This record gives sequence, C-alpha cells and structure tokens, in this order.
Amino acid sequence: MTFDYAPAPESRAVVDIAPSYGLFLDGEFVPASDGKVFKTVSPSTEEVLSEVAQASAEDVDRAVKAARKAFEKWSALPGAERAKYLFRIARIIQERSRELAVLESLDNGKPIRESRDADLPLVAAHFFYYAGWADKLDHAGYGANPRPLGVAGQVIPWNFPLLMLAWKIAPALATGNTVVLKPAETTPLSALFFADICRQAGLPKGVVNILTGDGSTGAALVGHPDIDKVAFTGSTEVGKAIARTVAGTDKKVTLELGGKAANIVFDDAPLDQAVEGIVNGIFFNQGQVCCAGSRLLVQESVAEELLDALKRRMRTLRVGDPLDKNTDIGAINSAEQLARITALAEAGEAEGAERWSPSCELPDSGYWFAPTLFTGVTQAHRIAREEIFGPVLSVLTFRTPAEAVEKANNTPYGLSAGIWTEKGSRMLWTADRLRAGVIWSNTFNKFDPASPFGGYKESGYGREGGRHGLEAYLNV
Ligand code: NAD
Repeated sequence: MTFDYAPAPESRAVVDIAPSYGLFLDGEFVPASDGKVFKTVSPSTEEVLSEVAQASAEDVDRAVKAARKAFEKWSALPGAERAKYLFRIARIIQERSRELAVLESLDNGKPIRESRDADLPLVAAHFFYYAGWADKLDHAGYGANPRPLGVAGQVIPWNFPLLMLAWKIAPALATGNTVVLKPAETTPLSALFFADICRQAGLPKGVVNILTGDGSTGAALVGHPDIDKVAFTGSTEVGKAIARTVAGTDKKVTLELGGKAANIVFDDAPLDQAVEGIVNGIFFNQGQVCCAGSRLLVQESVAEELLDALKRRMRTLRVGDPLDKNTDIGAINSAEQLARITALAEAGEAEGAERWSPSCELPDSGYWFAPTLFTGVTQAHRIAREEIFGPVLSVLTFRTPAEAVEKANNTPYGLSAGIWTEKGSRMLWTADRLRAGVIWSNTFNKFDPASPFGGYKESGYGREGGRHGLEAYLNV
C-alpha cells in the first residue's frame, strides 16, 4: 500500500522580489550604462520573476575600477577585521535563509527541500569557514604574511547559484581580494539579494560588485586587463575559451568545469544503501550537478538485483512544484537545458540503449524531465561520454575491479567518482586508480567547506574549498 502526500507548499510570501534590479556597483544598485535589461523566469511556471540589468563592457570597466580602488583599504585591513565582515555575512545568511531558499527555488527550479537543507546551510558554512581563516593566513602553509592577488573576476553557473557565489566570494574576501562577480543569466536573483546582504553587513563599498548579464558580460570581465585573477565555474567549452583569453597574461586562473562521474557498485556493496546513493548521485538537483554520478558501473553478478531495487525506488520519486516540501525532483533550469537533455536522451535511444522512466505526471507549464534510466549502454554511446546535466542515468556493467577502473577512467573528464563496497582494501585499491578530484565511498554528493573540490583533465584545474582554496587567491 502506498500513501498519497498532501500538498505541503512553502510560502512564497517570505520573499519580496522587486520588479527590476540594477547592477551592484561600488556599493550602489545602478542601471546598465546602455540601459539594457533582460528577464528572469521561474522555470517551474515560466512566470517572469523580475527584470535585471545587462552589464556592458563599460559597466565591467566601472566595476573593476571600483574593486581596484576598494582593494587598497580592504587588503590593508588586519585579517581579524575582515573576518568580522565575513562572520556578519554568514550570520545574516542564516537569519535570511528561509527567504533565500524560496528565492533560489523560484529562480532555479530546485526543490525547496534541497535549497533549504543543502544549498543554504552550505552557503553559510562557507562564509563561516573562510571567516575563520582570515586571521590565520600566516599558518596556512604559504609562508608568513601571504599577500592577496588584487581584483578577482568571477563567473558562475546556474545550478547552485548562491553556493557557487559563496565558493568564490568567501575565500577571495578572507584573503584580502576584492571581487567582481557575474551570476548566470537564468539565475541572477540570489546574487542580487547577496548584494543587499553585503550592504546590511556594512561591507565597504566596492569590495563586492555584482554584474548581471550573459556570456558577453562574462567574456568582458575575464578579458579585462586590470583583473588579477579569474575564477570560473561552468562548461568545459566556455572554460577552454577563457583559458585561451587569459593565455599569455599574468592572471591567475581556476577552472571548475564539467564531469561524467562513474558511480561504481561492487558485488559486496550494501545494495539498498547503494540505491539511495545512486538516486542522490544522479537525481539531486535534477542531475544538474557537475559531479553527478551519471554513469552507474555495476558488477554484472548483482546488476539485475540492483536495477530492480533502483526502479522500485525511482517509482517513489515525486516530480513537481519546487516549493512543495515533498518534492524530490523540481524543474529543469531553462528551455535550452531541457532541449539539450531531450536531445541526448533521444541519441541514447537511437544508438540502441534501452530507456526506462517510472510513470509520472509532469506539470503542463514549465520545463520538466522525468527521471530516466538507460540500460544496455556501451562506452561508445554519447550518453556514456557526454555530460547530460539532467536526471538521466547511464548504466554499464563490469566483471572485474580492473575493468571497472578502466571504464571509469575512460572519459575526458575527471571531477568525481563513487565506490560502493564493504571492503576497505577494495575501496582504497580502486580510489588509488581513479583519475578524479573527489572520490566518495559508500556515499555520494557530500560537501563540506573544509574539503577541497576540483577536477582532473577536462574537468578543469585548481581547487576550491578547504585550505587548498586559499592558494587560488594568494600570491604564492
Ligand atoms: P556555461 O559555461 O554556459 O555558463 C557558465 C557561466 O559562464 C555563465 O555565467 C555564463 O553567462 C558565462 N559565460 C558564457 N560564455 C562566456 C564566455 N565566453 N566568457 C565568460 N563567461 C561566459 O555553463 P552553464 O550551462 O551555466 O553551467 C553548466 C556547466 O557548469 C556544466 O558543464 C557543469 O558541469 C559545470 N559546473 C561545474 C562545476 C564544478 O565545480 N566543476 C560546478 C557547477 C557547474
């Protein structure tokens, strides 16, 4: 017998979205120099949420100048003083977390359960963590009195808008840098609310500047001659273009790019636990996660049992209104992303893999994709090679540990991986051989600000998070 869930909607009234927003430049909200604007919509309803400014190259220049001017005083502050601002920001984020969680779910489409229980706690934790480092930089392992770089140009994606902002801004400010940050064009709102939090915290003007805009704004920012550091999270394609732009300059760069993680299940794994990890690995945030466990590699002898259990579990996933507290899978972030997922899933079928989804009713308006499983996938299939960035799992099988490692590493990416086994020796043997920046064992998608994160190969270079994350913002 199954139970129906009564609707449990989170109140939208806790967030007050203005009809329009300017750029946050030198401590003030101002219109774009050429007056251009664009709309941001809620992916679950296609309702227009607000209109935001589209920053021009001239605005980028103004923001970089404001950040350069602010750098002088900000970098000269004792670390303990900078820490006070970061602690204040962290506490305001906690105080306003319900409002920010609802805002993030509206603008991004992610379930409130995730924005409330994963994104927002991690955002606050990041600011608390790096606030703690600000007065201890002498002891971070980079020599006495390590110096900041200057002005950081930061460009972030739409899948974890506020969390990616925290990953970028918290370490930059703790180390004495000032920033110009560009959020993604489909999710600008939480960064603009963050600008308001900076004002609430009394952060000196110019230390944080937020420029909304599309790829052209991002390109103008990373190409600006007076920034000292580029921090980018996004697709491998844009990451490569940025690497070309900064080649030959003395800008320091970190690139956090795409992934195609293997989640490996050995025959001795606790299968029920593995099923939960697989579901979390690929359906968390609609699978729009760079480190998503998008390739399930399962040992042949347990494949049938595991897939039966996985299908049973997938039938219980609730797809729908992101603001309903019972929702497991929300909306896809944009019509473009939905088209990309749809095209790759169709390619999977055309190339001969077997497609399965539980029956689920999708809402009439908005952008939706049912949780999907592909079996009979071979390594040559596009769905085994390309990042889908959606709720689509490709299943491959293996017979020996060596074959699992060979298949897991057979990808241009190397961001993350999962290993499910009861044997510690097998886990360590496998982890030693995987070319991935983060490896989880008997769990998946666990994050902590103290833990570094980053990729191998086409997943990018540099590390964010932890003590390692400081290095990217210090002149060492
Ligand atoms: P995207 O590369 O299209 O866009 C990312 C950001 O770059 C956006 O703000 C966009 O406006 C900007 N941009 C676009 N063209 C630009 C250019 N020429 N110069 C400078 N900036 C430009 O990526 P997306 O679709 O927003 O995000 C999805 C991708 O991000 C996926 O590939 C995912 O794997 C990756 N991602 C990686 C991590 C990580 O930590 N490795 C985390 C989250 C997302």
